Amino acid sequence: MSQDRTTPPGGGRRGLETAEEVAGAVHGLVRDAFTAYTRYHQKKQEQEGKLFGLRMSSLGGCVRECAYRLSGTEPSDSELALDGENRAANVGTWIHEGLLPWMAAVAGNAGYEVKVSLRAGKDTVPGSLDLFVYIDGVLIDLKTGMEYDAHRMQVGGYALACQQDPDRETPRWVVWLQLDRTDRQVREKVVVEEWTEDYALEVLEHVWDIQRHAKAPDEAPRWDAFERPMRGPGLSYVCDGCPWLRRCWGEKAEPGQPGAQAVLAKDDPAVAGMLHRFSVHRSGESEDRGLKEFFRHAATGGGRKPGTYTGPDGTYEFWFGKQGSTPDLDQIRSHYRRWGIPVPMKPTAGKLHVKAIPDGTAGKKPKPRKREGNTDG
Ligand code: SF4
Repeated sequence: MSQDRTTPPGGGRRGLETAEEVAGAVHGLVRDAFTAYTRYHQKKQEQEGKLFGLRMSSLGGCVRECAYRLSGTEPSDSELALDGENRAANVGTWIHEGLLPWMAAVAGNAGYEVKVSLRAGKDTVPGSLDLFVYIDGVLIDLKTGMEYDAHRMQVGGYALACQQDPDRETPRWVVWLQLDRTDRQVREKVVVEEWTEDYALEVLEHVWDIQRHAKAPDEAPRWDAFERPMRGPGLSYVCDGCPWLRRCWGEKAEPGQPGAQAVLAKDDPAVAGMLHRFSVHRSGESEDRGLKEFFRHAATGGGRKPGTYTGPDGTYEFWFGKQGSTPDLDQIRSHYRRWGIPVPMKPTAGKLHVKAIPDGTAGKKPKPRKREGNTDG
């Protein structure tokens, strides 16, 4: 790609006649740029053999996916790893590329994007740790996405890899640094944990667990390092982008489309069991919407016929009410954006704020408050 930031116009104009067409073209440009970067980045990873093998960055995620990676199982849906705009992930990569060298330079005696390998028996799990401030023994993993404590296994993997390597320092602290980009402040949250033998053992035991499952990856549990379930296409975004999606959930599995969960209920008693769990979660006080949806699709997905099903949990009947339709808001928004038309908005009522006014001060202007420093972080 050219480094010239003021590339002169070339190739003639594209016949954009209206402001709407120009806006539509700019939206398209942003979309195509994200998609092109995803392909570039993923192809590079593929060439370096990083795309489908087990790496430290996968350690805390789905155990079955880790088992597929470690066993070298051929992906059934490799294109899912190479496609899409991946906006959040790509912006995260760019933040890493921009921030880490500066953090290392400011800290002094620090390394960033340090290549390490964790050894466990005959297997090695490679990875690239974000930042190691050697002088204080602080190993930092930077996250720009949502909070997700399974990343603890990843940063522990880096620490263990450093400890195993006689040419590297063993960290004293592991730090999980999350940048929250949801407001203009770009605040940070810092979680610090001491690197201990117990923590190291926890990481090793998890890797041994993956090694055991790699012998029969199709039987490996569909949950993460903290035993939180992966709920399949349409219900877990990890599954929607997983290169083993159809191998795991059956040939009919489609990214973003629930229904393939029906493979979990292979016979009538299993369907009755799923219907039982669905009804428990539907009527429960602390209703987990995600679980309810999961059991709904496991019981009724994949074109399963309505009817009566019996199992150890009792007899359940299911049927579908009259079909209806509802506007597909995501599609509508994407059409509007493609055509460069602003999405119509309607005013909403302002939130009600109430505060007590001390006697005799009604209508008086309050004294300006002293500005407080930002102590966040
Ligand atoms: S499709 Fe989901 S459950 Fe299956 S291996 Fe991939 S991430 Fe795990």
